[in-house]
Amino acid sequence: MKAGIGSIKNIIAIASGKGGVGKSTVAVNLAFALKSKGFIVGLMDADIYGPSQPGLLGKREQPKGFEGAIVPLEIDGLKFISMGNMNQTGKANIMRSPMILKALSQFIMGVRWGDLDYLLVDLPPGTGDVQLTLSQQAKLSGAIIVTTPQRVALEISYKGLNMFQVLNVPILGIIENMSGFSCKHCGKTTDIFKIGGGKTLASSSDVPFLGSIPLDPEVMVAGDEGRNLIESNPNANSSRMFMKIAEKVIEVQNKISAEIFEPMHVQIDCGKLKIVWKEDSTVIYDTFKLRLNCPCADCVDENTGKRRITEKQIPLDISATRFNLVGRYGVSVHFSDGHNTGIYTLKLLMEMPNDIGKTSFSV
Ligand code: ADP
Repeated sequence: MKAGIGSIKNIIAIASGKGGVGKSTVAVNLAFALKSKGFIVGLMDADIYGPSQPGLLGKREQPKGFEGAIVPLEIDGLKFISMGNMNQTGKANIMRSPMILKALSQFIMGVRWGDLDYLLVDLPPGTGDVQLTLSQQAKLSGAIIVTTPQRVALEISYKGLNMFQVLNVPILGIIENMSGFSCKHCGKTTDIFKIGGGKTLASSSDVPFLGSIPLDPEVMVAGDEGRNLIESNPNANSSRMFMKIAEKVIEVQNKISAEIFEPMHVQIDCGKLKIVWKEDSTVIYDTFKLRLNCPCADCVDENTGKRRITEKQIPLDISATRFNLVGRYGVSVHFSDGHNTGIYTLKLLMEMPNDIGKTSFSV
């Protein structure tokens, strides 16, 4: 088995705008819910500064290495890795950004994840380097935003949601956590905070609402005990809610995956970008027009959408020198004039009309 994420069908980021909304709790319970539906599931704790998965999973030992790669830990059939298991000192992870990104790359490239149906990635809160690196290196197939119903959380969640939209990572939907208090004695739910904010955010952002989880002492106690709530108490109200959310996640992810169209092959051929989309459809892009239509912030005014770069600024003999695939969604092209900041989304390349540089032919 090779290290890395090559054999993982779906990589889903679990994100939140701010800390303390229950993102890690949702990630672990959703992972177990997907597992109890019969899928092979992994969980990557990318919350490098505040890793909580070892505690939530009740497994704090260090993972072992094998042939230069990390073997993920396993609990109840769930594979997982966390910085909390790597750092056994009990002290804080004090690392500068480049070190964090290095650790993260190791979690992506250096772990023997093997064949997984789903890898859930528990992100740190916010919209920083880790989110960016993951979106580009880990080929995210989707992102889920966890929020609480209060306005302040919803406002920050919108920023997280917007970041994934900008990065072209499909948003699978929003989960509202701590949505009302569920009393285990009388079974009634009281709306301590307001409820419904997550649903409103979802509909105003035109993304699915995946469901809500009440503020439930059983969720907190299971987390504190490092106990698998879904399997130890499948009849708890919250366990049933997590199972319902898992069903919705599967449905939305399958629908989105069917719409993602990954090319069979990308190359630079005689200074031009060439993409084999399907066996019978290859497109060679006109480099001059591709450069002119570069979507980066230097070439297009972000506010007005107006093109800043003019034809006169582009050498007539411009060529493409190399490319990088960016996540599952784009290609960045390096040009002979030194420009390399544009990420052309696959959608943009597929939909590029002929007059801006597409020459389509069948082979
Ligand atoms: P985050 O990852 O967003 O920082 P955590 O998942 O660590 O948040 O959760 C913070 C605290 O809230 C934990 O003590 C957790 O047990 C508790 N918690 C999270 N969700 C719920 C819930 N639905 N009901 C009760 N307690 C919860």
